[in-house]
Order: sequence, then C-alpha cells, then structure tokens
Amino acid sequence: MAYVVTENCIRCKFMDCVEVCPVDCFYAGENFLVINPDECIDCGVCEPECPAEAIFPDSDGRAEAWIETNARLAGLWPNITRKGEQPADAEEWRDKPDKAGLLSEEPHKD
Ligand code: SF4
Ligand code: SF4
Repeated sequence: MAYVVTENCIRCKFMDCVEVCPVDCFYAGENFLVINPDECIDCGVCEPECPAEAIFPDSDGRAEAWIETNARLAGLWPNITRKGEQPADAEEWRDKPDKAGLLSEEPHKD
C-alpha cells in the first residue's frame, strides 16, 4: 500500500507534506507533487498535514484515478524534501474543482 497525491494539489503545492515524510518519497513537478509508491512506507503522517486535503491512501476510492499518475511521474520528476516557495495564487486554486486538465508534466525547477 501507499499514499497518493490527488487533484486538489494541482497549482496548490503548499508542500507541508514533504517536510514530514520520514522516507522522503515526494517528487515535484511544475504545479503538482507525487508520492513514489515503491518508497512510501504507508505511515500516513502526510495525510493530515496537507491543507488541500489532497492525500489519500490508495485503498480510498478518491485516490484511484491518481495511482498510475503518482507512480509514473515519480519516475520522471526530482525528489523534494524541503518546503519551497508556494505559488502566489495557491490559496485561490486550493478548492477549485476540475483541475486535472491543468496538470503539468514538466519537472519542478529551482
Ligand atoms: S501539502 Fe498537499 S497540496 Fe501541498 S504539495 Fe503536499 S500534497 Fe500538494
Ligand atoms: S504515507 Fe508516510 S511514507 Fe508515505 S508519503 Fe506520506 S509521509 Fe511519506
């Protein structure tokens, strides 16, 4: 089992999650984060830390559509362990529905 980052993280990227993960298994794209399912130890610590409530266990139906995306993009994006600068308009995007089409597959750049 693993935890999965889902749609509500898109353009939000508060990154509170990365600071608490004991095994540093978050990977960063331009406007989204994913969890590497092969590294996640299923501790659940990140789930309540996410202000956007975007993290669910893969057994939760809300995670289902995002399981493949997390696994695939974790292999393409750089690892992230420290909270960076969040987008200036993150609050504005926090609870917007239907953000899936806005997901950028570009990796995060410093
Ligand atoms: S805290 Fe939540 S919204 Fe922020 S980057 Fe992590 S998963 Fe995405
Ligand atoms: S469940 Fe634990 S190991 Fe998995 S991503 Fe969250 S904090 Fe990291």
